[in-house]
Amino acid sequence: MADLNDLYQEVILDHNRRPRNFHALADASHQAEGYNPLCGDRLTLYLRIDNGVIADVAFEGSGCAISKASASMMTDALKGRRVDEARALFERFHRMVTTSPDEPVEDLGKLSALAGVREFPVRVKCASLAWHTLKAAMARETKTTTETEGW
Ligand code: ZN
Repeated sequence: MADLNDLYQEVILDHNRRPRNFHALADASHQAEGYNPLCGDRLTLYLRIDNGVIADVAFEGSGCAISKASASMMTDALKGRRVDEARALFERFHRMVTTSPDEPVEDLGKLSALAGVREFPVRVKCASLAWHTLKAAMARETKTTTETEGW
């Protein structure tokens, strides 16, 4: 049985307390808002994409520790990646948090700290919010919510 404390591992607490890249981006080329009404998590994601590379990425917003830590870790993981790599990472992250807790998952480095949300279905949306917002921003959509088709 998973303990709720396992979910709030040190790395998640640290990213929640001191979120990385937590600011607006004045020269963003792409931007989208994400909202998870189930928990009340909101964030705005900013991207500066130059020649198919994510040159800079930042976010603002408010929400639970999981949503904030996930957004913080995601921005760290994305900087300097190509857009196609970011899309592939979205798919891998999505698989990690939606695979049954009994199944093995791919090691995604620091992002693996969030694999524990698989045990808590309501938290999956908190952990996925930043990533779905990323996907929306890259597709030039301005808004996404957990009610959006394909979530
Ligand atoms: Zn949440």
